[in-house]
Amino acid sequence: MKFALPGAEWSLQFDEAAVSMLQRRMQRWSRSKESVGQLFTNDLTASTIVISKVTSLKARRASWSSVAFDPIEAMRQRQDLLQEGLYCIGLWHTHPEAMPTPSGTDERLAADHARAAISVLNGFAFVIVGNRPFPEGWYVGFHDTARFLKADFSRS
Ligand SMILES: [Zn+2]
Repeated sequence: MKFALPGAEWSLQFDEAAVSMLQRRMQRWSRSKESVGQLFTNDLTASTIVISKVTSLKARRASWSSVAFDPIEAMRQRQDLLQEGLYCIGLWHTHPEAMPTPSGTDERLAADHARAAISVLNGFAFVIVGNRPFPEGWYVGFHDTARFLKADFSRS
């Protein structure tokens, strides 16, 4: 299963552990809260970038339909994982909807992170885990500092 932007020569893949970790955070119940975390890879230069590590961040003010995190905790986590050769390439969070789309807040967050990462990343990955199983229920997109683009998946 690969996710790619239309016309792009590179793609994004999730390893099995990453998929099952994110599936477990799905908001199946009406009283569940959104959760949030970061996506890491150990090779930024491959034409297929594999997400091999998914982390959680402590949610501040989490509710059914919104979540915020501490940017200092996020930076600390990136520094720690860099010691293990893992690079942060994006963020994930959950939405209590079947087929999620980014909110206005999500767009601003993705744009901010894309700008901060411009020297190392062509696009900042942004994943929203919805209520339907992988991959149909996931929004996978990239922010390139100017635009937010949705990736399509293929089963090859
Ligand atoms: Zn959101």
